[in-house]
Amino acid sequence: MHCPFCSADDTKVIDSRLAAEGSQVRRRRECVRCGERFTTFETAELVMPRVVKSDGTVQPFDESKIRKGIMLALQKRPVSMESIDASLHRVLSRLRATGEREVRARMIGELLMEELRQLDQVAYVRFASVYRNFDDLAEFRTVLDHLDGVADEPS
Ligand SMILES: [Zn+2]
Repeated sequence: MHCPFCSADDTKVIDSRLAAEGSQVRRRRECVRCGERFTTFETAELVMPRVVKSDGTVQPFDESKIRKGIMLALQKRPVSMESIDASLHRVLSRLRATGEREVRARMIGELLMEELRQLDQVAYVRFASVYRNFDDLAEFRTVLDHLDGVADEPS
């Protein structure tokens, strides 16, 4: 890559090591013309699949909506932010791991339910009962709207 100091075309790598627990490569480079040194970081570009709504329309993935969904489900429950972050991370990893360019909003909802089950039994039972049974239509709709808001709605 070009030298940021003198814009020479050629720089050489003098050191290369893993950073950020292996998710980054840190390179020390030296300009062959002016001798200045600088550092570059290389990370994988992680592309999230797009979200297909039940009506077939497709929307870009929005991590903040997934987070909101988890937070909503766990309102007033004794679950640490750390655990919530870990759950969120697992959901994102699993979505990426599908290797699909598009996933159904429904699938995201189900991954969230699975995480809720592990995070907090009360939150899970509360949500699972209305998510899975149509006994209380009004309540079910409310929950579904929230989940749709998580995965479906444009911001
Ligand atoms: Zn230079």
